[in-house]
This record gives sequence, structure tokens and C-alpha cells, in this order.
Amino acid sequence: MRHSEHELRNAAEKWLSATGSNAYEAKVVADHLVNANLRGHDSHGVGMIAIYRDFIQDGRLKPNTAPRLLNDRGSILQFAGDRGYGQRIGHDATEQAIARAKETGLCLYTIANSCHLGRIGTYGEQCADAGMVSLHFVNVQHFQPLVAPWGGSDARFGTNPFCCAIPATEKNGRFILDFATSIVAMGKTRVAYLAKKRFPQPVMLDAKGQPTDDPKVMWEDPKGSLMPMGLYKGAGLCFACELLAGLLSTGGTNAPSLLERDGTIVNNMTSIVIDPKALCDLTWMKREMDAMIEYVKASPEPDPKGNPILEPGEVERERTAERTANGVEISDGEWAKILETCALAGVTEADIRA
Ligand code: NAD
Repeated sequence: MRHSEHELRNAAEKWLSATGSNAYEAKVVADHLVNANLRGHDSHGVGMIAIYRDFIQDGRLKPNTAPRLLNDRGSILQFAGDRGYGQRIGHDATEQAIARAKETGLCLYTIANSCHLGRIGTYGEQCADAGMVSLHFVNVQHFQPLVAPWGGSDARFGTNPFCCAIPATEKNGRFILDFATSIVAMGKTRVAYLAKKRFPQPVMLDAKGQPTDDPKVMWEDPKGSLMPMGLYKGAGLCFACELLAGLLSTGGTNAPSLLERDGTIVNNMTSIVIDPKALCDLTWMKREMDAMIEYVKASPEPDPKGNPILEPGEVERERTAERTANGVEISDGEWAKILETCALAGVTEADIRA
């Protein structure tokens, strides 16, 4: 069934307020979740509240936590996330990094140990909308490992996302390349599992290390693992995210010898924000970017009904326009979970539809 942006926003914002977030945090986190749904990344949308509820209950996620500045060296800002909502920590830290990059031309900022940062493209969009180019490397701690190393048969990494963002031109929208370094993000296996669907091809390994398209291997025992994207090169990017995010943020890696896992989704992020004005003429840059996008899109498509050539970020823009107009398709299983989670916090279906 389709649900309107308004209903999704009500569900998220009212649930966040009912579970202790102040009005500012409820709005920032709800915006992030709803925008993830609108962009087609339901895995990082409002459905996550069911998981956050478990984290809040035993103090593993701490509402109303702002990023805490640990280290300011001009073009370097290091923040502690202190298990706050990653969506709020990420938003506020990125805002400060953008302001700094506007002064210095460049800001490397890190976030250590926030709770789930959500959809990393959100921070890329925030930077691009402020005229900045950005790179983001993320690792995951405390949650069970999910991604098998290249050549391995069980999980050793999180789904370690990478994002690269470049501002829009007058002709083309912002370039937002943003993905998990597994073939599919874990949240997509949740959405498929709740909808009782299989993937079109094997994207996971079962508990014996054999490729499978059935998402139940990630949600029922004995557990399997996600396959890394792009053979050894994608697996290498996953490893690079692990080290860049884990080491430079000081949050740490997923190595069990150094970590007592408590099952929370904890993220570390190392990001670089660049003011392109410090490096080149913006009019030239935009003209060159448009020319390259035009050149790439002019490549003849062997099958006109197949995949069109898209700029990264374009598919999310198309989905946002369509979903804003027609609502977001959410499986009955996922919607039931959202309603149940809201009801447990005293937010009724009538509140959501209001
Ligand atoms: P995905 O496989 O849908 O890939 C998305 C990227 O590919 C986007 O940049 C999109 O514009 C581009 N893209 C999609 N189709 C395209 C096409 N036909 N042509 C050109 N480009 C195209 O994303 P995913 O790996 O499922 O990740 C989903 C989300 O999960 C991301 O936003 C990621 O940040 C998030 N994530 C977060 C965490 C975390 O720990 N916080 C972990 C993993 C993933």
C-alpha cells in the first residue's frame, strides 16, 4: 500500500517526540528518515524506528545528544557521537564542517560512535546544496558483522557505505554516489524479507558460504552473510572504509578482540568537505561537468528498453518526484511494524493520519 509523505512524517516525528527527542531532534531525524523513503531507500526510512526502539529501551541509543567537539585544528574537526541519533549528530557535524570549509577551503571531519547515521547520501546532499564537494567513508561497529571478505565464507565487516557528492549545475542535478559496499544494503534484505520476496540474483552467502537469493539467511538462524560488491575491488573499498572511518575517527574497527559487541548499529565516519571555489573557477567547473555528463549519456544504449544511462543521484530524484506525488509503497509487514512501534509509544493510527 502507498503511504503519503505526510503520514510517514507524522509517524516518525510523533514517535520520536513520544520517545524523548526534543522538537529539533525529532524534526531532523524524521526529515532524514522520510527523505530516505522518498528517495527509494526504504531500508533507511521510517521503518527503522522499530529497531531504534530496542536501542533506546536499554540505553544503547541516547536521544538529545549533540555532536561533541573533541579536536579542532582548523581544517580538521573531530566529533564524538556518544551514541546519539546518528541522523542528528551527522546533520549537525556536517553543518559545522561546511562552515569551516567555507573559511579554509577544506575540512576533514570525523564522527566517532554515533548510533546509526542512516542514509549517508543525506550528508552528501547537505554538502552539495551548500556548494561543497564531499567524500564520506563509514564503518559499522557493535552490530553483528554482515559482509564476507573477498574469498571468505562468513561475515567480518559491516556494510561500510561510501559516498561522493558534487553540487548541481543549472542543467544537471547534484551528483550523489552513495552505496553500501555489499551488493545490497542489510536494510534491503529486511524490506525483502518482510515482503516475502527473493532477490533477482544471489547477493548473499548462506551459513555454509554458498551464494543465495533468499533474504531469510540474514534474518533466521543459521545466519549467512552479504556478498561484497565488485569482486575484490569492491571488497577492498569496504576494507578502506573500515580503516579510514574506524582509525581516523578514533571510534575503532569491527575487530572483535578490541570490541565487546552489544548489538547496536554504531557508525564511525571520516569525511572530507572541499570548497571547489578554493581550487577552480565555478563557471568552468559546471560547464565541464555538464559536458562530461552529456558525453557519458550520449553513449548508445544497446537496449532502449534496458537501463538508461543515469548520473548518480538521478534515480533518487526521479523517485522523490514520483513518491512525493503518489506516496511511498510500503509492504503490509513493514507498515504493521511501524504502527506497532508507534502504538507502544502511545502514537495511534489516528495521530499518524491526522
Ligand atoms: P543502491 O544499491 O541503491 O545504490 C545507490 C547508488 O547508486 C546511488 O548513488 C544511485 O544514484 C546510484 N544508482 C542507482 N541506480 C543507478 C543507475 N541505474 N545508474 C547510475 N547510478 C545508479 O544503494 P545501497 O547500496 O542499497 O545503499 C542504500 C543506502 O544505505 C545508502 O544510502 C547508504 O548510505 C545506506 N547505508 C548506510 C549504512 C550505515 O551503516 N549507516 C550502511 C550501509 C548502507
